[in-house]
Amino acid sequence: MGPDFIYAQPVKLFFGEGKFAKLPEILQELGVRRCVIACGKHFAPTAQAMQAADDRIVAVFGAVEQNPQLSGVKETARLAREAGADAVLGVGGGSALDTAKFAAAIALGDGEAEDYYYARKPFPAERLTIIAVPTTAGTGSEVTQVSVVSNGTEKKTINNPVFMPKAAVVDPVLSSTVPPRTTMNTGLDAMAHALEGYWSRNHQPISDLMAIESVRLVLENLEKAYHDGTNMEARANMAFASLLGGLSFALPKTAGSHACSYPLSEDYHLPHGEAVAFTLDSFVRINADERLELLCRRVGLSGTEELAERIAALKELGGLRRRLSDLGDVDLDKLAHDCAVHGLMQNNPIPMDEEKLRAMFEKLA
Ligand code: NAD
Repeated sequence: MGPDFIYAQPVKLFFGEGKFAKLPEILQELGVRRCVIACGKHFAPTAQAMQAADDRIVAVFGAVEQNPQLSGVKETARLAREAGADAVLGVGGGSALDTAKFAAAIALGDGEAEDYYYARKPFPAERLTIIAVPTTAGTGSEVTQVSVVSNGTEKKTINNPVFMPKAAVVDPVLSSTVPPRTTMNTGLDAMAHALEGYWSRNHQPISDLMAIESVRLVLENLEKAYHDGTNMEARANMAFASLLGGLSFALPKTAGSHACSYPLSEDYHLPHGEAVAFTLDSFVRINADERLELLCRRVGLSGTEELAERIAALKELGGLRRRLSDLGDVDLDKLAHDCAVHGLMQNNPIPMDEEKLRAMFEKLA
């Protein structure tokens, strides 16, 4: 049978070096009149300067942390409500984007943030416009309807159309200050999105094409961006790879490596990209089949074994944790169990139970 699929991508994309400087015109085009910025500490001084220069920026929440907390979402939503905002602009890595997305979705509701977080109430029908400005090349959150937010130590991924941005401004210049290790973590997250979208049980032809190009771009550019963060060609290609990675998994969803990343982040405190990369080469070997061989040949590799080796070499170059012994005391039974029961594991093309996952982790001892 020939291609058979449904495809939709609702986010207007503004991509390229210098695009962030065009934000005033973009706000105008989108009809935004009162906007709150959610960002992390690295961008907070710039956001405050933007507020001083443009009447349409009415408040800044500048304290988004890694693995963003629901408390930051609440604070952003409160600022938006009190300022009568019509939009929330997230500027930063996935943490800032996901904070902005959640805050925009609940700002006009009459419930508590916890009501929506724990699905005790449906999300409000009315919401604020979401504009996503990624400053890392990794999550692809600018084109997904996903928001990953923690409440204390509990980290939850919520998938809902209310989180879909109206527009994304992807300016590679913003990523030039990302430190090398974060460049590596996030770059491997982008590659994982592409690979997992490609081998997901729900993969489809348009996403597949974007996945192949995303993997090719990461293989050609991640090492360059890692060694020289000011290499704008490498940064731009990584920003594009990340965007394509986001589009590759937005519909098919991710699979085994992302399922395993949750316990690895929650119990062993690995940053998201490092947690995903921990098992990515293992899953390349586990999921190796004719389709994956085809992807490898299209990106100029000899096959799946070379892809696994390239991922391992990137992890080593970035100083990422790669072995169980790097994680301290590991409760292997709990780790294998928690990975097996995570919902995303159902998307893995090869069924993975607790026993198989235990064997996979034992090879990483
Ligand atoms: P992050 O947003 O946590 O940022 C990592 C660190 O880099 C932070 O300290 C941040 O302040 C800093 N940083 C970001 N941009 C910078 C810059 N330009 N210069 C200097 N420092 C900078 O990391 P991330 O990997 O981008 O996002 C991870 C989060 O996104 C996790 O919570 C993950 O679960 C989530 N995620 C969401 C989606 C989605 O579709 N919504 C997809 C994948 C991951």
